[in-house]
Amino acid sequence: MESKIRLRKGALIRISEIYQSVQGEGFLTGVPSVFARTSGCNLRCWFCDTPYSSWRPEGDYLTATQVAERVLAFSASHVVLTGGEPMIYGALPELCASIAAANRHITIETAATIYQSVPCDLISISPKLSSSAPRGASAGWIHAHEHRRKRVDIILRLMSEHAYQLKFVVDTTADAEEVLRFLDELVDYDGQRVLLMPQGITTDALDQQAQWLVPWCSDHHVRYCSRAHIHWYGNTRGT
Ligand code: SF4
Repeated sequence: MESKIRLRKGALIRISEIYQSVQGEGFLTGVPSVFARTSGCNLRCWFCDTPYSSWRPEGDYLTATQVAERVLAFSASHVVLTGGEPMIYGALPELCASIAAANRHITIETAATIYQSVPCDLISISPKLSSSAPRGASAGWIHAHEHRRKRVDIILRLMSEHAYQLKFVVDTTADAEEVLRFLDELVDYDGQRVLLMPQGITTDALDQQAQWLVPWCSDHHVRYCSRAHIHWYGNTRGT
């Protein structure tokens, strides 16, 4: 299936929330940032921690100009366009251009299953592993998720066009081993840009996962990535 079939053309972007907080994941951990969360996703990961932007999308439809105005009303110099899946919106490049014109640093969080040419400073790619398959979903969604979730061609294209980080959510050692096979398919990548994050939405669960995942990452020359915002705020919406 061509990715452009799933692109939502038109001028509107559904937004579930816009807020300022502190980045809790990846290279920019600790940086005050405005988060604009688009609503709607072409995947249905069982562990999705923002179901209000995927399984049960909610929020108002806004123009790119309206979204940019709301983002720029906050003071942070860094902006994170996240979801859901921001890349499903054809108006995303226009939104990025408006924010970039105000000299804000833009990170786009994406599962990289849909391609668009977008101006941004960091593309944060979070490919979904086979264990992300939806639980309790319809047969149609189970099939769609598996069919869509892995687009090596799109990942490579985004990596070639942007400064990137590759973030994998892992729950088990089997997931971590799958990451290695995934990386083999990419062939040319920078291990210092590969981040493995534990699955979990409580500090206890994350701490438990860290016990095996931290040394595993060191042994395999990739980076462990905490989910600091859960340690700081808990699994709380708007943080
Ligand atoms: S890709 Fe992200 S937003 Fe979409 S269902 Fe998976 S975890 Fe949730």
